[in-house]
Order: sequence, then structure tokens, then C-alpha cells
Amino acid sequence: MFTGHIALGLFLYSLYPSLPPEIPLVGSAFIDLINGILLLLSVDRISPAPHLSLGVTLDFIDYDHSLLACIAWGAMYAVMVRTMVNKEHRNTAALLAFGAVVSHWVLDYSVHQKDLAMYPGSTLKFGTELWETHPWSAWSMEAVFSLGLWAATAKNLRLDKSKSLKMACVLGLLHLNIVPPPGVNPMHIMVHRVDTNWLRPIGGIAIFSSFLIATLGMSKVLRQWSTAHNVKEAIAKARVKKTR
Ligand SMILES: [Zn+2]
Repeated sequence: MFTGHIALGLFLYSLYPSLPPEIPLVGSAFIDLINGILLLLSVDRISPAPHLSLGVTLDFIDYDHSLLACIAWGAMYAVMVRTMVNKEHRNTAALLAFGAVVSHWVLDYSVHQKDLAMYPGSTLKFGTELWETHPWSAWSMEAVFSLGLWAATAKNLRLDKSKSLKMACVLGLLHLNIVPPPGVNPMHIMVHRVDTNWLRPIGGIAIFSSFLIATLGMSKVLRQWSTAHNVKEAIAKARVKKTR
């Protein structure tokens, strides 16, 4: 899952807009960011599988995508976030951070092959396999899920039409990156073009950078929008005061 994680991060931010948007956005993508790093370090293992919808099999992703690892990363991220926000928001921020990271496993479960282990090395693995058994249904389901979260986010943040549309366009473009075959997506291009030996490092860099750019880029825009909104509100309040 890709767009769904980002959309959930946006929605979580819309519930706590006074907190930095990076907390839920980076949090919801945290497990895939670690996955990118561990692929680069050759700890995680993937193999090319051009016949599959995803283009690869995720042979070993237990240190980031197992349930126990997700909970542990979530706890670590929550502790990190807790030290970075001011006192009055600490507990809410930590809870939000933990929830965002752990949500990743639940969303991945809804589409992944049985490659989500219970704990590192466990043979007990989870995943609905929807990505491979019904790739277009999985893709459409993620689109509908993201669309719903986008609508709720736009409503909660009281975004105007132009900003809502911009957010929808970004999510739509992100979702095109995981369109199943016969659609063309970057993972499939990579599997067909890159030598097997380079698949792990290049895949790792691609996963890490795509999630980092998407989450930090969106956070930056959300910060600008909230500042613009606050300035607008302050001006409106000042006007009301003047006319009184
Ligand atoms: Zn993932």
C-alpha cells in the first residue's frame, strides 16, 4: 500500500492540526522508510517477479513489517516524537505517532501477500493476498479508501476548493505509481530494467526517497496552508474588532 498510508497520515493530521503534520505523515510511512533503509543494507530481501502485480516477492521484511517490529518501531517513534514537542502536547503527540506507525501494518495486511510475519523469523505470516489474487480490486479499494480520507481531511481542515483539488491531484498521482499491470508503474519498470543484483539497493533508495519526498513535501505544504489560514483568521478577527 502506498497512497492509503499517506491519506491516513493526512487524515490523522486533520484530527490534530495543532501538532506538526510530520508526526502522522512520517509516522504512517515510517515502516516503509525503514524497509527502504534495510533493503539498502541488504537486511531485507526481495526477488524479481515480473509476473506478479507488485513486480517482486517480499522474501524477508521481518525487521520492519512484522507485527512485533511495527509495534517496536511505533514505540520508538513515539518516544522520539515525545521529546520533540512541548509539554502540553507530549502525550497526544506520542499516541498519534504510535497509532500512525502501527496503522501501517493493518493497512498492509489488507493487500499484502502472506509476507507479514508475527515477529522476526516467525513462520506465522499474515496478508490477504488481495494484491495478487485481485490486483484491480486492491487498487480500487485503496483509491476509494484514500478518497474517503481525503474528503474527511479537506472537511476537517476547512480547505477551500483549490486546496482540496490540489491535495486530491497529489494523491491521484501517487496512486498511479502503483497501478497494476497492464498499467505501467515504476516498480515494474525497475524489475524489467535493473540487474537482479541491483534490485535491492535501487529498490531501497526508491522506496525510501518516494515516501520521504511525499510525506515531507505534503507536510511543508500543510504548514504553509495552516499559516495562511491563521493569518486570514487573524485579519478577519481584527476587522470584526474595528467595526465594533
Ligand atoms: Zn509497508
